[in-house]
Amino acid sequence: MLPALILAVLLPALSLAQDGGIDGPTTSPEAAGYSCDSSQCKLPNCNCASPNPPGGLSPSDVPQFIVYTADDAIQSYTLDSVNQFLAHRKNPNGCQPKITYYTSLNYTNYTLVTDWFVAGNEIADHTMTHVGSPPNDEIDGNLIALNALAGIPLSSIIGFRAPFLNYTVDTLKHLAAARFTYDSSASASIPVTDPNTDAYWPYTLDNGMANNCLNVPGTCKGEPKLPGFWEVPMYAFFDNRGVAGPHLMDPWLDNANGASQVNDSATLEYMKNTFTAHYNGNRQPIGLYTHPIHTSTTYPGVTVSNSTINMINAFLDWAQVQQNVWIVSTEQLLAWVQNPVPVSQLDSVAALKCTTPQVDQAICNGIPANEQGLLSHCDFPDFPFFTCYGCPGVVPTPDDPNPTQDTSNGQQARFRLPANCSTPFWDPIKGQCVCTSSTCQFQDNSRPIGPNGANLTGGGTGGSFTSGAASPTNSFVPFNGNGAVSPLPAGIWLTITLGFIGAMLGWSTIQI
Ligand SMILES: [Zn+2]
Repeated sequence: MLPALILAVLLPALSLAQDGGIDGPTTSPEAAGYSCDSSQCKLPNCNCASPNPPGGLSPSDVPQFIVYTADDAIQSYTLDSVNQFLAHRKNPNGCQPKITYYTSLNYTNYTLVTDWFVAGNEIADHTMTHVGSPPNDEIDGNLIALNALAGIPLSSIIGFRAPFLNYTVDTLKHLAAARFTYDSSASASIPVTDPNTDAYWPYTLDNGMANNCLNVPGTCKGEPKLPGFWEVPMYAFFDNRGVAGPHLMDPWLDNANGASQVNDSATLEYMKNTFTAHYNGNRQPIGLYTHPIHTSTTYPGVTVSNSTINMINAFLDWAQVQQNVWIVSTEQLLAWVQNPVPVSQLDSVAALKCTTPQVDQAICNGIPANEQGLLSHCDFPDFPFFTCYGCPGVVPTPDDPNPTQDTSNGQQARFRLPANCSTPFWDPIKGQCVCTSSTCQFQDNSRPIGPNGANLTGGGTGGSFTSGAASPTNSFVPFNGNGAVSPLPAGIWLTITLGFIGAMLGWSTIQI
């Protein structure tokens, strides 16, 4: 249990964190100095920054994507927090929505990263130790450690988000050089209804950046030129103050309309209004950019109100009963943007499908039911974790992201994922791929897309959240709730809490 004093310090810090979002436009046409010739810049490898849908599609032929992301450490409580909003939902093709988790490694439980990935979600880079303006080894080390200790294929880690959204021109250049596909740290800070909106569909940096031109030196006016490297802007919501009332991450923690306290009804109203402006306009994606800790019901010391949880579910319920609304990960969005097809052909988009790997052997492969008794427990004092891939001798750091395995207790070293096998089929104990045939790997669970996707969703009817109709109770099974991962030692919470306070205080000074 946390001492009351610590809670008193923690909770204001958590609410302060939201002040680190944007408080007005982060670009202007003059600052951007952006130009792009769409007759030269063509999909799939080049796309001009534009509020108009990709591929020349008319907005009515375009899905309304809700990009859902989560940031920071992956723990059972953060996955439970996400699941209370998504586990009971379906997209129009019958698939459960996938999200992107921008993962930092302090306090991350590696085996849950494996599980989350094998369940179909995107794992992306958020630096090893959560630092803004990150040095290259923080970015590269995250990639290496997630590959080594969570078995995420290097080819699958394609995206990056800067901690505190604090990136530099060098960050973007390094990401492109390290063969990331995209960054998603820049903000779209001007409403779509404004003629100068910066709510661009994802675009490549063949002609430089067009977002955050007022506060990231060395970007925009054609720089940096990174052909084929994508920026996926983060789209803000706007309250009734319009451009003066943006809300970027965790909008439910913000005070709406300049009020002095959180009002879930007011938040829901402006979230719906912003969604509608996108939906009735050029259908730029809407983003739910979350820090799951803020809505955790199982993290000691954090108390989220049921009203806020119900409000978020009410928003998603309301959005999902509209035509052609999809909740997606960033990589799913980008796959469609690169090869856009009208909504009538969405059933041909492989990235939107869902599959279940067919593995009947008990191997340590990211499927919780298979892993009983096979996980290694790495008992580091600051943040113990579990992994299928053998405990490193020391905690991974940017200097040493893939330390030598600890075999001092006589255990055989585990085999790390090779490039020619996919995670659910790799047996890290025997060091063999249990399925190498392309035909036996996955069972396709997606269904043909009906004319009205909303009829296939599990999202309810969109009634008022105050009615309680959107209560998430009984709607999900706690992640790894079978006890495969034991609770952290009692003393760990103070360490984690202090770490978060530090992170949040750092955040509150950032203006991006
Ligand atoms: Zn973060």
